[in-house]
Amino acid sequence: MVLSKPAFEQGPIRPPNEANSLLLRLTRNCPWNRCLFCPVYKGKKFSRRSAEEVKKDIYAIAEDKEKVKEISEQLGYNGEINRAVVARIHADNPELLTVAFWQYHGGKTVFLQDGDSLQLPADQVSGILRLLKEKFPEIERITTYARSRTILRRSVEELSELKNAGLNRVHVGMESGSDAVLDFMKKGVTGSQHIEAGLRVKEAGLSLSEYVLLGLGGEDLWREHALETAQVLNSIDPHYIRFRTLAIRSNSPLAEEVQKGNFKPLHDDGVIREEALLIDHLDHITSYIYSDHILNLLEEISGKFPGEKQKLKNILDKYTSFPARKKELFRLGRRSGYFRTLDDMENPALKEAVENIYQQIKSGGYSVDEYINQLLSRFI
Ligand code: SF4
Repeated sequence: MVLSKPAFEQGPIRPPNEANSLLLRLTRNCPWNRCLFCPVYKGKKFSRRSAEEVKKDIYAIAEDKEKVKEISEQLGYNGEINRAVVARIHADNPELLTVAFWQYHGGKTVFLQDGDSLQLPADQVSGILRLLKEKFPEIERITTYARSRTILRRSVEELSELKNAGLNRVHVGMESGSDAVLDFMKKGVTGSQHIEAGLRVKEAGLSLSEYVLLGLGGEDLWREHALETAQVLNSIDPHYIRFRTLAIRSNSPLAEEVQKGNFKPLHDDGVIREEALLIDHLDHITSYIYSDHILNLLEEISGKFPGEKQKLKNILDKYTSFPARKKELFRLGRRSGYFRTLDDMENPALKEAVENIYQQIKSGGYSVDEYINQLLSRFI
Protein backbone atom coordinates (compact mmCIF):
# COMPACT_ATOMS: atom_id res chain seq x y z
CA MET A 1 0.00 0.00 0.00
CA VAL A 2 1.25 3.50 -0.81
CA LEU A 3 0.85 5.67 2.28
CA SER A 4 -0.71 9.09 1.76
CA LYS A 5 1.44 11.97 2.91
CA PRO A 6 0.33 14.05 5.87
CA ALA A 7 -0.94 17.59 5.24
CA PHE A 8 2.34 19.06 6.48
CA GLU A 9 5.99 18.81 5.49
CA GLN A 10 8.63 16.62 7.13
CA GLY A 11 12.33 16.05 6.48
CA PRO A 12 14.32 12.79 6.50
CA ILE A 13 16.49 12.96 9.62
CA ARG A 14 16.09 13.05 13.38
CA PRO A 15 18.27 11.92 16.32
CA PRO A 16 17.68 8.27 17.37
CA ASN A 17 16.09 9.30 20.67
CA GLU A 18 13.49 11.40 18.84
CA ALA A 19 11.94 8.38 17.12
CA ASN A 20 8.56 9.01 18.77
CA SER A 21 8.61 12.80 18.48
CA LEU A 22 6.63 14.94 16.08
CA LEU A 23 8.98 16.21 13.36
CA LEU A 24 8.33 19.86 12.52
CA ARG A 25 10.29 21.19 9.56
CA LEU A 26 11.70 24.72 9.85
CA THR A 27 14.41 24.49 7.20
CA ARG A 28 15.15 22.13 4.35
CA ASN A 29 18.45 20.28 4.13
CA CYS A 30 21.80 21.59 5.41
CA PRO A 31 23.28 25.07 4.82
CA TRP A 32 26.84 23.72 5.04
CA ASN A 33 26.54 20.36 3.30
CA ARG A 34 30.29 19.81 2.89
CA CYS A 35 31.19 17.25 5.57
CA LEU A 36 32.98 14.40 3.82
CA PHE A 37 31.33 11.66 5.84
CA CYS A 38 27.75 12.93 5.43
CA PRO A 39 25.73 12.01 2.33
CA VAL A 40 22.36 12.95 3.84
CA TYR A 41 21.65 16.19 1.99
CA LYS A 42 24.21 16.00 -0.81
CA GLY A 43 22.81 17.42 -4.06
CA LYS A 44 19.97 19.08 -2.17
CA LYS A 45 19.70 22.82 -1.80
CA PHE A 46 19.29 24.44 1.58
CA SER A 47 16.26 26.68 2.11
CA ARG A 48 14.54 28.37 5.01
CA ARG A 49 10.78 27.88 5.33
CA SER A 50 8.86 31.03 6.16
CA ALA A 51 7.38 31.32 9.65
CA GLU A 52 3.90 31.48 7.99
CA GLU A 53 4.50 28.18 6.18
CA VAL A 54 5.59 26.45 9.40
CA LYS A 55 2.66 27.91 11.33
CA LYS A 56 0.28 26.56 8.67
CA ASP A 57 1.79 23.15 9.35
CA ILE A 58 1.12 23.56 13.08
CA TYR A 59 -2.55 24.31 12.35
CA ALA A 60 -2.70 21.29 10.01
CA ILE A 61 -1.21 19.06 12.73
CA ALA A 62 -3.77 20.38 15.24
CA GLU A 63 -6.58 19.53 12.78
CA ASP A 64 -5.16 16.04 12.28
CA LYS A 65 -5.03 15.58 16.03
CA GLU A 66 -8.73 16.42 16.27
CA LYS A 67 -9.59 13.97 13.46
CA VAL A 68 -7.57 11.22 15.17
CA LYS A 69 -9.43 11.89 18.41
CA GLU A 70 -12.80 11.73 16.59
CA ILE A 71 -11.91 8.36 15.07
CA SER A 72 -11.03 7.08 18.55
CA GLU A 73 -14.42 8.27 19.84
CA GLN A 74 -16.25 6.66 16.91
CA LEU A 75 -14.53 3.39 17.75
CA GLY A 76 -15.67 3.70 21.36
CA TYR A 77 -12.28 4.46 22.90
CA ASN A 78 -13.20 7.85 24.34
CA GLY A 79 -10.40 9.76 22.64
CA GLU A 80 -7.69 7.31 23.77
CA ILE A 81 -5.15 6.64 21.01
CA ASN A 82 -4.36 2.94 21.30
CA ARG A 83 -3.15 0.26 18.88
CA ALA A 84 -6.65 -0.44 17.59
CA VAL A 85 -7.13 3.23 16.69
CA VAL A 86 -3.73 3.38 14.98
CA ALA A 87 -4.52 0.18 13.05
CA ARG A 88 -7.84 1.62 11.83
CA ILE A 89 -6.18 4.85 10.77
CA HIS A 90 -3.48 2.87 8.99
CA ALA A 91 -6.19 1.09 7.01
CA ASP A 92 -8.65 3.94 6.35
CA ASN A 93 -6.90 7.30 6.86
CA PRO A 94 -3.19 6.82 6.25
CA GLU A 95 -2.72 10.57 5.84
CA LEU A 96 -3.39 10.83 9.61
CA LEU A 97 -0.88 8.15 10.58
CA THR A 98 2.00 10.52 11.45
CA VAL A 99 -0.07 12.40 14.01
CA ALA A 100 -1.76 9.20 15.22
CA PHE A 101 1.66 7.65 15.96
CA TRP A 102 2.77 10.81 17.74
CA GLN A 103 -0.38 10.76 19.88
CA TYR A 104 -0.04 7.02 20.50
CA HIS A 105 3.43 7.75 21.94
CA GLY A 106 2.06 10.44 24.21
CA GLY A 107 2.28 13.49 21.91
CA LYS A 108 4.66 15.23 24.30
CA THR A 109 7.89 15.63 22.33
CA VAL A 110 8.78 17.58 19.17
CA PHE A 111 11.94 17.74 17.08
CA LEU A 112 12.58 20.73 14.80
CA GLN A 113 14.08 19.77 11.39
CA ASP A 114 16.32 19.67 9.37
CA GLY A 115 20.03 19.94 10.11
CA ASP A 116 20.30 23.51 11.44
CA SER A 117 16.98 25.09 12.51
CA LEU A 118 18.61 28.08 14.21
CA GLN A 119 19.32 29.38 10.69
CA LEU A 120 15.90 31.01 10.96
CA PRO A 121 15.96 34.37 12.79
CA ALA A 122 15.47 33.87 16.53
CA ASP A 123 12.24 35.91 16.65
CA GLN A 124 10.72 33.69 13.94
CA VAL A 125 11.73 30.50 15.76
CA SER A 126 10.30 31.80 19.04
CA GLY A 127 7.02 32.73 17.28
CA ILE A 128 6.79 29.19 15.94
CA LEU A 129 7.57 27.71 19.35
CA ARG A 130 4.93 29.85 21.07
CA LEU A 131 2.24 28.78 18.61
CA LEU A 132 3.28 25.15 19.03
CA LYS A 133 2.95 25.39 22.82
CA GLU A 134 -0.36 27.22 22.48
CA LYS A 135 -1.90 24.59 20.20
CA PHE A 136 -0.39 21.67 22.13
CA PRO A 137 -0.01 22.71 25.78
CA GLU A 138 0.78 19.10 26.70
CA ILE A 139 4.17 19.26 24.91
CA GLU A 140 6.97 18.70 27.40
CA ARG A 141 10.10 18.71 25.24
CA ILE A 142 11.12 20.51 22.05
CA THR A 143 14.59 19.92 20.63
CA THR A 144 16.56 20.82 17.52
CA TYR A 145 19.84 20.22 15.69
CA ALA A 146 22.12 23.24 15.32
CA ARG A 147 25.63 23.73 13.99
CA SER A 148 28.14 25.28 16.39
CA ARG A 149 28.91 28.01 13.82
CA THR A 150 25.21 28.93 13.64
CA ILE A 151 24.87 28.99 17.42
CA LEU A 152 27.75 31.48 17.53
CA ARG A 153 25.66 33.85 15.39
CA ARG A 154 23.02 33.90 18.16
CA SER A 155 23.52 35.85 21.39
CA VAL A 156 22.90 34.34 24.81
CA GLU A 157 19.83 36.61 25.01
CA GLU A 158 18.44 35.25 21.73
CA LEU A 159 19.03 31.66 22.85
CA SER A 160 17.38 32.45 26.22
CA GLU A 161 14.39 33.83 24.34
CA LEU A 162 14.11 30.52 22.49
CA LYS A 163 14.22 28.72 25.81
CA ASN A 164 11.48 30.95 27.19
CA ALA A 165 9.39 30.26 24.09
CA GLY A 166 9.62 26.49 24.65
CA LEU A 167 12.88 25.14 23.23
CA ASN A 168 14.44 22.67 25.68
CA ARG A 169 17.45 21.11 24.05
CA VAL A 170 19.97 21.64 21.27
CA HIS A 171 21.66 18.64 19.61
CA VAL A 172 25.05 19.59 18.15
CA GLY A 173 26.91 17.37 15.69
CA MET A 174 30.31 17.97 17.24
CA GLU A 175 31.77 14.81 15.67
CA SER A 176 35.31 15.56 16.91
CA GLY A 177 37.22 18.03 19.04
CA SER A 178 40.40 17.63 16.98
CA ASP A 179 41.07 20.46 14.55
CA ALA A 180 43.04 18.09 12.30
CA VAL A 181 40.07 15.71 12.06
CA LEU A 182 37.50 18.50 11.68
CA ASP A 183 39.61 20.11 8.97
CA PHE A 184 40.14 16.88 7.02
CA MET A 185 36.43 16.09 7.24
CA LYS A 186 35.51 19.64 6.11
CA LYS A 187 33.26 20.12 9.14
CA GLY A 188 33.70 23.89 8.88
CA VAL A 189 34.25 24.41 12.60
CA THR A 190 37.10 24.21 15.10
CA GLY A 191 37.31 22.60 18.51
CA SER A 192 37.41 26.02 20.21
CA GLN A 193 34.27 27.09 18.31
CA HIS A 194 32.55 23.93 19.53
CA ILE A 195 33.51 24.90 23.09
CA GLU A 196 32.29 28.48 22.73
CA ALA A 197 28.99 27.41 21.14
CA GLY A 198 28.38 24.67 23.70
CA LEU A 199 29.01 27.00 26.63
CA ARG A 200 26.69 29.58 25.10
CA VAL A 201 23.84 27.07 24.81
CA LYS A 202 24.34 26.13 28.45
CA GLU A 203 24.55 29.75 29.56
CA ALA A 204 21.15 30.34 27.94
CA GLY A 205 19.75 27.62 30.20
CA LEU A 206 19.17 25.12 27.38
CA SER A 207 20.01 21.45 27.63
CA LEU A 208 22.94 20.47 25.38
CA SER A 209 23.52 17.16 23.61
CA GLU A 210 26.85 16.70 21.79
CA TYR A 211 27.22 13.97 19.16
CA VAL A 212 30.64 12.36 18.80
CA LEU A 213 31.46 10.25 15.75
CA LEU A 214 33.63 7.31 16.80
CA GLY A 215 36.14 6.24 14.17
CA LEU A 216 36.31 9.64 12.53
CA GLY A 217 40.09 9.96 12.97
CA GLY A 218 40.70 6.77 10.98
CA GLU A 219 43.99 4.95 11.44
CA ASP A 220 46.09 8.09 11.11
CA LEU A 221 44.31 10.39 13.56
CA TRP A 222 42.52 8.08 16.00
CA ARG A 223 44.66 9.18 18.94
CA GLU A 224 44.20 12.92 18.27
CA HIS A 225 40.49 12.33 17.72
CA ALA A 226 40.11 10.59 21.08
CA LEU A 227 42.29 12.92 23.17
CA GLU A 228 41.19 16.25 21.71
CA THR A 229 37.52 15.28 21.66
CA ALA A 230 37.81 14.42 25.35
CA GLN A 231 39.47 17.81 25.97
CA VAL A 232 36.68 19.72 24.21
CA LEU A 233 33.99 17.75 26.05
CA ASN A 234 35.78 18.40 29.35
CA SER A 235 35.66 22.14 28.61
CA ILE A 236 31.95 22.09 27.72
CA ASP A 237 30.59 19.52 30.21
CA PRO A 238 27.45 19.04 28.09
CA HIS A 239 24.35 17.51 29.63
CA TYR A 240 24.52 14.63 27.16
CA ILE A 241 27.26 13.04 25.08
CA ARG A 242 26.00 10.69 22.42
CA PHE A 243 28.24 8.32 20.49
CA ARG A 244 27.68 7.26 16.92
CA THR A 245 30.11 5.15 14.93
CA LEU A 246 31.37 6.12 11.50
CA ALA A 247 29.98 4.06 8.64
CA ILE A 248 31.12 5.10 5.20
CA ARG A 249 28.36 5.24 2.64
CA SER A 250 29.39 4.49 -0.92
CA ASN A 251 27.83 7.79 -2.09
CA SER A 252 29.71 9.96 0.42
CA PRO A 253 32.80 12.01 -0.47
CA LEU A 254 34.64 10.10 2.25
CA ALA A 255 34.26 6.88 0.22
CA GLU A 256 36.32 8.58 -2.52
CA GLU A 257 39.00 9.50 0.03
CA VAL A 258 39.15 5.85 1.07
CA GLN A 259 39.55 4.84 -2.59
CA LYS A 260 42.39 7.32 -3.01
CA GLY A 261 44.08 6.00 0.14
CA ASN A 262 43.67 9.33 1.98
CA PHE A 263 41.53 7.85 4.76
CA LYS A 264 42.01 4.46 6.36
CA PRO A 265 38.89 3.39 8.29
CA LEU A 266 39.30 1.78 11.68
CA HIS A 267 38.28 -1.82 12.27
CA ASP A 268 35.72 -2.32 15.09
CA ASP A 269 38.54 -3.18 17.52
CA GLY A 270 40.33 0.05 16.61
CA VAL A 271 37.13 2.00 17.31
CA ILE A 272 36.88 0.38 20.74
CA ARG A 273 40.52 1.28 21.46
CA GLU A 274 39.75 4.88 20.46
CA GLU A 275 36.54 4.93 22.54
CA ALA A 276 38.42 3.62 25.58
CA LEU A 277 41.07 6.34 25.25
CA LEU A 278 38.40 9.02 24.92
CA ILE A 279 36.45 7.85 27.96
CA ASP A 280 39.62 7.47 29.99
CA HIS A 281 40.40 11.16 29.36
CA LEU A 282 36.96 12.52 30.22
CA ASP A 283 37.41 14.31 33.53
CA HIS A 284 35.49 16.67 35.78
CA ILE A 285 32.30 16.30 33.75
CA THR A 286 28.79 15.51 34.88
CA SER A 287 27.40 14.42 31.49
CA TYR A 288 25.23 11.43 30.67
CA ILE A 289 26.82 9.28 27.98
CA TYR A 290 24.63 7.32 25.60
CA SER A 291 25.48 4.94 22.77
CA ASP A 292 21.93 4.76 21.47
CA HIS A 293 22.73 4.18 17.81
CA ILE A 294 22.47 0.88 16.00
CA LEU A 295 25.98 1.29 14.51
CA ASN A 296 27.70 1.38 17.92
CA LEU A 297 29.29 -1.94 18.79
CA LEU A 298 28.92 -1.44 22.54
CA GLU A 299 25.43 -0.06 23.12
CA GLU A 300 25.90 -0.60 26.85
CA ILE A 301 28.41 2.27 27.06
CA SER A 302 25.81 4.30 28.80
CA GLY A 303 26.06 6.04 32.14
CA LYS A 304 26.39 9.23 34.12
CA PHE A 305 29.73 10.85 34.83
CA PRO A 306 31.64 10.98 37.05
CA GLY A 307 30.11 8.14 39.10
CA GLU A 308 29.79 5.59 36.30
CA LYS A 309 33.06 6.23 34.48
CA GLN A 310 34.66 3.12 35.96
CA LYS A 311 31.65 1.01 34.93
CA LEU A 312 32.11 2.13 31.31
CA LYS A 313 35.85 1.49 31.45
CA ASN A 314 35.19 -2.01 32.79
CA ILE A 315 32.89 -2.80 29.84
CA LEU A 316 35.51 -1.61 27.35
CA ASP A 317 38.25 -3.55 29.17
CA LYS A 318 36.08 -6.67 29.17
CA TYR A 319 35.63 -6.55 25.39
CA THR A 320 39.31 -5.74 24.85
CA SER A 321 40.39 -8.72 26.96
CA PHE A 322 38.39 -11.21 24.85
CA PRO A 323 40.41 -13.56 22.64
CA ALA A 324 40.14 -12.81 18.90
CA ARG A 325 37.49 -15.46 18.18
CA LYS A 326 35.26 -14.31 21.03
CA LYS A 327 35.50 -10.72 19.80
CA GLU A 328 34.55 -11.89 16.31
CA LEU A 329 31.60 -13.83 17.71
CA PHE A 330 30.37 -10.83 19.71
CA ARG A 331 30.67 -8.52 16.70
CA LEU A 332 28.75 -11.00 14.58
CA GLY A 333 26.05 -11.43 17.24
CA ARG A 334 25.70 -7.71 17.79
CA ARG A 335 25.53 -6.87 14.10
CA SER A 336 23.04 -9.63 13.34
CA GLY A 337 20.78 -8.52 16.21
CA TYR A 338 21.27 -11.40 18.68
CA PHE A 339 23.50 -9.66 21.23
CA ARG A 340 23.00 -6.26 22.77
CA THR A 341 25.41 -6.58 25.68
CA LEU A 342 28.56 -8.56 26.34
CA ASP A 343 26.65 -10.60 28.94
CA ASP A 344 24.30 -11.80 26.17
CA MET A 345 27.17 -14.07 25.11
CA GLU A 346 26.51 -16.08 28.27
CA ASN A 347 22.98 -16.90 27.08
CA PRO A 348 23.29 -20.45 25.62
CA ALA A 349 20.42 -20.06 23.10
CA LEU A 350 21.69 -16.76 21.73
CA LYS A 351 25.26 -18.01 21.63
CA GLU A 352 24.25 -21.15 19.76
CA ALA A 353 22.32 -19.10 17.19
CA VAL A 354 25.36 -16.90 16.57
CA GLU A 355 27.70 -19.91 16.46
CA ASN A 356 25.46 -21.39 13.74
CA ILE A 357 25.76 -18.24 11.63
CA TYR A 358 29.51 -18.26 12.25
CA GLN A 359 29.80 -21.84 10.99
CA GLN A 360 27.68 -21.07 7.91
CA ILE A 361 29.86 -18.10 7.04
CA LYS A 362 33.03 -20.14 7.42
CA SER A 363 31.70 -23.13 5.47
CA GLY A 364 30.64 -20.74 2.68
CA GLY A 365 34.23 -19.55 2.43
CA TYR A 366 33.46 -16.01 3.62
CA SER A 367 35.08 -13.93 6.31
CA VAL A 368 33.13 -12.62 9.29
CA ASP A 369 34.21 -9.08 8.35
CA GLU A 370 32.70 -9.42 4.86
CA TYR A 371 29.45 -10.66 6.34
CA ILE A 372 29.36 -7.86 8.95
CA ASN A 373 30.04 -5.23 6.29
CA GLN A 374 27.05 -6.51 4.34
CA LEU A 375 24.88 -6.33 7.45
CA LEU A 376 26.07 -2.82 8.24
CA SER A 377 25.27 -1.58 4.74
CA ARG A 378 21.60 -2.16 5.64
CA PHE A 379 21.81 0.39 8.44
CA ILE A 380 23.50 3.25 6.59
S1 SF4 B 1 26.68 19.94 9.03
FE1 SF4 B 1 25.60 18.04 9.60
S2 SF4 B 1 23.99 17.77 8.05
FE2 SF4 B 1 25.43 19.30 7.25
S3 SF4 B 1 26.86 18.14 5.98
FE3 SF4 B 1 27.77 18.29 8.02
S4 SF4 B 1 27.08 16.44 9.11
FE4 SF4 B 1 25.76 16.67 7.28
